[in-house]
Formats: sequence, C-alpha cells, structure tokens
Amino acid sequence: MTLRKPQLLHSFFSLITLTLVLTQSHLKAENPPNIVIIFCDDLGYGDLGVYGHPTIQTPNLDCMAAEGMKFTQFYSANAVCSASRASLLTGRYPPRHGTLGVYFHHHQTGLNPDEITLAEGLKAEGYSTACIGKWHLGHKEEFLPLAQGFDSYLGVPYSNDMAVDPGMSFAKDAIFSEDWSLEKVRSYDLKKNKPPRNLVPLLQGNEVIEFPTDQSLLTKKYTEAALSFISENKDSPFFLYLAQTMPHIPLFASEDFLGKSLRGIYGDTIEEIDWSVGVILDHLKKLKLTDNTLVFFTSDNGPWLSVKLKGGSQGLLRGGKFTTWEGGHRVPAIAWWPGKIEPTVTSEMASTIDLFTTGLSLAGANSPSDRTIDGLDISPLLFGKGPSPRKEFSFYKTNNLQAYRKGGWKIHFKVQKETGGRPGERLETPLLFNLHADPSEQYDQASVHPELVSELSKSLDN
Ligand code: MG
Repeated sequence: MTLRKPQLLHSFFSLITLTLVLTQSHLKAENPPNIVIIFCDDLGYGDLGVYGHPTIQTPNLDCMAAEGMKFTQFYSANAVCSASRASLLTGRYPPRHGTLGVYFHHHQTGLNPDEITLAEGLKAEGYSTACIGKWHLGHKEEFLPLAQGFDSYLGVPYSNDMAVDPGMSFAKDAIFSEDWSLEKVRSYDLKKNKPPRNLVPLLQGNEVIEFPTDQSLLTKKYTEAALSFISENKDSPFFLYLAQTMPHIPLFASEDFLGKSLRGIYGDTIEEIDWSVGVILDHLKKLKLTDNTLVFFTSDNGPWLSVKLKGGSQGLLRGGKFTTWEGGHRVPAIAWWPGKIEPTVTSEMASTIDLFTTGLSLAGANSPSDRTIDGLDISPLLFGKGPSPRKEFSFYKTNNLQAYRKGGWKIHFKVQKETGGRPGERLETPLLFNLHADPSEQYDQASVHPELVSELSKSLDN
C-alpha cells in the first residue's frame, strides 16, 4: 500500500477541506454530549459474564449492560486490529480508507492523513479529544493520534507483541528499564539485527517516555489517564477514545488481578478491564456527567483462537480473529447513557463504522460530504425511537468482499479455516446461513434458497 507523504501545503488544504465538508452541519447541538469509546483488543463475543462466560467475572460490565443497551448483533468492521481501528475512526469500510491489514513496528506508513477521523470531526465541533491506549494506525509522527485529530495521546503505538522501532523519537527524560538505554535501542535495525518482540514503548504525544513499558501496569495507567482527562474537561464536550492493549497476547495483569480469575491470566486481564470500566463510570457519576455522556464499550475483532488458552472465546459463534466467520467480527457491545438509553437487549444490527456517523450526529454535525461514508446514524435505535438503520453488512478480507449479510441471511463467497489463514478459492456455490436461526453458521441453506444466493451475490458487483 502506498500513501502520499503529507506536505505542509497539502495539510493546509486538508484543513480547509475539513472545515468546508463539516461546516455543512445542521444547527449546532445545544448541549453536545461527551463521547467515550472503550475499545478492547481481541475480546471475543463469549468473554464477558453478561455474554455468557461462566468463569470470567465482569460485574461492572454486567451492570453497565443492565443499565444500558446490550447488542447481540454488533459487528466490528474488520477482523484484524489496524483495519478495524481505521474503520471505527473513519466510518468507512477498509477498501475505502486503504488500511487493509495490520501495521507492524517495521512499517513506515499508517492511516492516510487525508481520512477524516471521528476525532477531527468532533474537534471541529469544539470537542477536546484524547486517545489513550493502543493506536495501531502508524507510529511515525505524521500518522500518530496528534496528527489525526487528537489533542493528546498516551499509549503503546501498536500491538503489544511487537518491538521497538529503533528510529523512534525518545523524550529527553525517557525511562529505560532492565538493561535498556537509548544507545542500545539505536544499536538495532529493522532488517538484520531485529529488536526483540513483546517489548514495546509507551508514548506520550509523539515521543517514547518508557521503554520497555511494564505491560502489567498498562490497564492501570490508561485508566488513570482517562480519569484525569475527564476531570480536566468536565466543563466542555470531550471525546475519549480509550483503546485497551489487553486482552491481546502477551497477556499481563497488575498485581491486584494476577492469579485471581478461574479462567487464568486471560480472565485476569478481562477482570482488570472490567475494573477499569467500573472506575470510569463511577468517575462520570461523581462528576455528575452521566446525563450528558455516551459510553460505548466494544472490541476490535474476535478472539485469537490459534493461541488456544491464551486467546478468548467466540461463544456460540463460528471462527475467530482473522476470519469473516461471525466469531471474527461479531463482538460484545454495550451503550450506556443513563436516562437517555433505556435498559435494553437489542438484536438489531449495528457496527463500529456506525459510531463515526452517530458520534458526529450527536455533536450536531453531518458526516463529511466529499466522500462515501459507510457508517449509519444509530441514535434512533439507542434512544428507543426506532429500529437500526443498518440492514446489511459487508465482511472484507483486505480488499475482497468475502461475505455479506442482508437481514438475517449471510452469504460466504470464500471461506477460511476457523482459526484464520489464507482464504480458499472463490466457492463455486456460496454458503448461505440463516443467522437468526443459526448464529453458529452450521447449516448451509444455499440449496434450499437458490434465489437468495443469486440476490445476495449481487453485492459482489457493488
Ligand atoms: Mg485486535
């Protein structure tokens, strides 16, 4: 994938364009709500108590779901980290924004700066914006959160099983642990003398402040940063994008949680995330912000099944991360806004791409008019005023439409092993599943409904 390098003049025109495409908004919302998105990494559909896990204890998320809207048919836009995040932040399917897979620490590229992120859209409406946690949309300065609409950033710039890029910018007072030093970092290169994996940097803004960061403290650090950001911005609308590093492998939990869950270390990490959610919701209550704050909790993709016990559970769904089976895309999702969102369990369809459009709509802004946005405004669903506008969903593997859902029916044009891997050739006869009756995608209905196969196959031509 080739991306144009941003240049000064280009950035100037981008700013003008952004202003023009977003100033066509309807009347500014009178009291625009705060928006908090908590995004887990590789958390599966079956990994929370409230989604049926028998031994992982998630009392705070269970309570959040009981007080808010729990989705049973919510899709992450892609089954891998970077593509999923790019879609969440732009409201577009991967072939449109061009982030098709996963960025590694040795990649020098990232989310195309020409994309308009939710943070940029909300910033134009006067929001304060913060990104805390895993970014994974490019770790070079021109791709980092500060260049993509966020006022501040604290986090690990990519997956926690990656390594340091020896060319990164380090803060003057960066803290090194174990036997690391700046000289040692710089002594590596990305081709011959590769830096060790699973040792990752913690960034503040565009600079590394800790290397290697102690991963057992990440959930705590992210939570503390989230509380500070909320306190500092309690009097103005804010957008907090909190992307947890866990439960992506390698798994770490702080001392308070380590060894506590019956599910082992995987459960420890989820239980710590659950604690974090509880602390954040309590903080919003304490600051009396709950009547004007939407909190949305979800995951970037399904569980990593090939790592077995170290990965999560897709519950009753088929397949996991990397795949276009339901277990790769369908994730837990909870929307919470006491007094505004009634306690509900919804089987209406929605997706992470819809959070872009919904977020802008809540802020009183229209979606950008100069490009195709795939996200839809689900606020009528959230506020009990109607069904979800989402009636269909496209499952992409890189640039390829591999499966497509319309209503309760899902067609697969290509399939993969349930744990991932390369897709096979295009199926001569696609597979067809009735997801309402068969969420586990077990019983192919293609021969029973050839008319549906031919109707749904038209999605390939769009
Ligand atoms: Mg992931």
